[in-house]
Amino acid sequence: EVKQRGRDSFQMFMPGMENKTKERVSLEAQLRLAMAQGELSLCYQPQIDLQRGRMIGVEALLRWQHPALGYISPVTFIPIAEETGLIIQIGEWVLREAIQQHIHWIEQGLPSLRMAINISAVQFQHDGFLPLIKQIIEESHVDPTYLELELTESVVMIHAERAIEKLTALRVLGLKLAIDDFGTGYSSLNYLRKFPIDRIKIDQSFVRGIKNTPANEAIVKAIIALGESLGLETLAEGVENIEELECISSHHCMEAQGYHFAKALKADDLVAWFHANSDRH
Ligand code: C2E
Ligand code: MG
Ligand code: MG
Ligand code: MG
Repeated sequence: EVKQRGRDSFQMFMPGMENKTKERVSLEAQLRLAMAQGELSLCYQPQIDLQRGRMIGVEALLRWQHPALGYISPVTFIPIAEETGLIIQIGEWVLREAIQQHIHWIEQGLPSLRMAINISAVQFQHDGFLPLIKQIIEESHVDPTYLELELTESVVMIHAERAIEKLTALRVLGLKLAIDDFGTGYSSLNYLRKFPIDRIKIDQSFVRGIKNTPANEAIVKAIIALGESLGLETLAEGVENIEELECISSHHCMEAQGYHFAKALKADDLVAWFHANSDRH
């Protein structure tokens, strides 16, 4: 199959290529093949409960290893998947795969870990989304209270009334909801109050170098206080070092995620990481 795509791949990266559309079309074709040929996989990044100092959940992150082109970031291919509608298929695969993994870990004797799954705006707005979630829960017998859907601010702000209905229905099913990259979108505090959500994930751009950036520290502190007063849990994304960890902890952030603890790991490596790190407690 590598041979088959060779041509497309060269076209895509030909130096000086001016036709952006062609590049897109090619990557779209590659992405369709990737689905069919099992090039997509999930990695899992630990989420740490800061008070207990232990892993409480993981975030599933999509990986695409192309046989000829190597690693392609979700930042590159998710927008293409959204524009072409492929995200519906990919998103369904992600949901099923992450839930199977959650169930498999329990069978392996791990404590039940929250499984956080990123949901694209296009996927969330699709009419089939809620029925799909119901169907997967029924078929897999997963305990939905361990599933958390990550949505961005823009997803919930667009068609806010309709979004609130959908979010409410998801929560009635037992799922948890998180706002991803909080602080980077355009958020109305009024809507935040109305949205039936459980957690805000503080965007990593505010966490970076927080100790030496008073403005960032002020923003993070404000978000945590806002979360507290609205009864929402807070998680800091992208914690890379002990200084950042100490700073967010001093402001009573509840959870954290980032390279300081672990990057996104393959399922087996996550299990090894869990065993290596649970000794400490
Ligand atoms: P996100 O959901 O905000 O995920 C966090 C991103 O930050 C991940 O990048 C993660 O690997 C990275 N990260 C985690 N800790 C650190 C850290 O300490 N420092 C730095 N510099 N980065 C850190 P990744 O895996 O490349 O994913 C990028 C984005 O792609 C995600 O942002 C999410 O928006 C999207 N994405 C990934 N997987 C999926 C998926 O299954 N479905 C959808 N719809 N989008 C996905
Ligand atoms: Mg996320
Ligand atoms: Mg994020
Ligand atoms: Mg993001």
